[in-house]
Amino acid sequence: MQQNSKQNGVLDLTSRVYKLVVEHGKEGVLQSELWKKLNLTSRDGSRLAIRLEKRGLVKRERVLDNGRWTYKLTPLRLPIQIKSIEQAPCITCEVESKCAPNGVVTPYTCNKIVEWVKQEFASYNQGDTAAT
Ligand code: SF4
Repeated sequence: MQQNSKQNGVLDLTSRVYKLVVEHGKEGVLQSELWKKLNLTSRDGSRLAIRLEKRGLVKRERVLDNGRWTYKLTPLRLPIQIKSIEQAPCITCEVESKCAPNGVVTPYTCNKIVEWVKQEFASYNQGDTAAT
């Protein structure tokens, strides 16, 4: 139980980091700025950034800022609407680490993805996305 809530906390933070990176768009954002906003240590923040990089969601680029090396995070895929990623199941998925195109858990047979796409499509048809 405690393990689950810890994992949910990590997943929630990962989602928040990704959302902030996406909000900065193609310009990207320095890791240190994000960690300040989210009140994270650079060690914990870097773990989340590496997690997003491994999933192919962000690019992590080493840059020199005021004489110090740091990383700039840029989204690799920009959603049309920020809102559209808030409910994306992969961001908070508890089996994400086992999920791969050729894995035992795979997006090709994932019901969560199917349900999410159906909901997004229904929202789109009702004009919900136009209001955001
Ligand atoms: S595709 Fe499905 S199983 Fe894989 S990470 Fe996304 S929600 Fe999880």
